[in-house]
Amino acid sequence: MEMTEEKAAAHSWRPGRFMVIVGHPDDADFGPAGAASAWIDAGSKGWLVCCTSGDAGGEDPTLDPLELARAREEEQRRAAEVVGYEGVTFLHQPDGALVNDLPLREMLVREIRTFAPDAVMCGDPEVVIHGGGGINHTDHRAAAMAAVDAVYPAARNPMAFPWLAKNGLPAHRVRRLYLMWSNQPDAWIDVSATADRKIEALRSHASQLHDPEAVFARVRGRMAEQGEKIGVVAAEGYRLVVLDQDPAENVEVAEMVAADKPAS
Ligand SMILES: [Zn+2]
Repeated sequence: MEMTEEKAAAHSWRPGRFMVIVGHPDDADFGPAGAASAWIDAGSKGWLVCCTSGDAGGEDPTLDPLELARAREEEQRRAAEVVGYEGVTFLHQPDGALVNDLPLREMLVREIRTFAPDAVMCGDPEVVIHGGGGINHTDHRAAAMAAVDAVYPAARNPMAFPWLAKNGLPAHRVRRLYLMWSNQPDAWIDVSATADRKIEALRSHASQLHDPEAVFARVRGRMAEQGEKIGVVAAEGYRLVVLDQDPAENVEVAEMVAADKPAS
């Protein structure tokens, strides 16, 4: 008798609008570019926010950091076009020195309230050491923690940064978080149809690729490994956090959840 390994089901929920928040240009393309492309192909609208412009992402101390930042923003804009985002925001925070402070959170709350995403994709703020070894970059950790803190409670609380709501950016409830590069993924999105596009997006980051084919092989290998979880050619794994049920899907549950929440 042939035994087949039990597979999880492919994750099928899709946001109408989503925002990707990352530390550096290229994080989004090493990260959720496959799922983002798949969602966009299915009709979702996406927006990318890079907290830094990667001005320390080189090996040459004589490089002009501002020149490097400009080149990397160009690379990220090209990659974002490949994926199909509606647009990219650069917050121009210092590479290697990103801090989850109130000014960064205010900037992220502005972005979230402006684009009004149903879901935010960002790093897993609980990851300091990756499962396979290796340290999660300090900017990745700061961006992830700031993104989570901006989503909840700040973006949905009209009294957080109250000048925003007073000036036309009302509170917005992000209903879901998709945490990438997590040590505990529990939702796998089928990216079999968009894996090549992720590689194309990565190819835009020429300044960061010293041995592109080796990098692409590693990324493809990772997608294939994740694909095995749901029995497809390629997948990306996420740690899913559901903050609110979808109103249209289950209005009663959403109202109960809202009623249970304290006023703050
Ligand atoms: Zn990075």
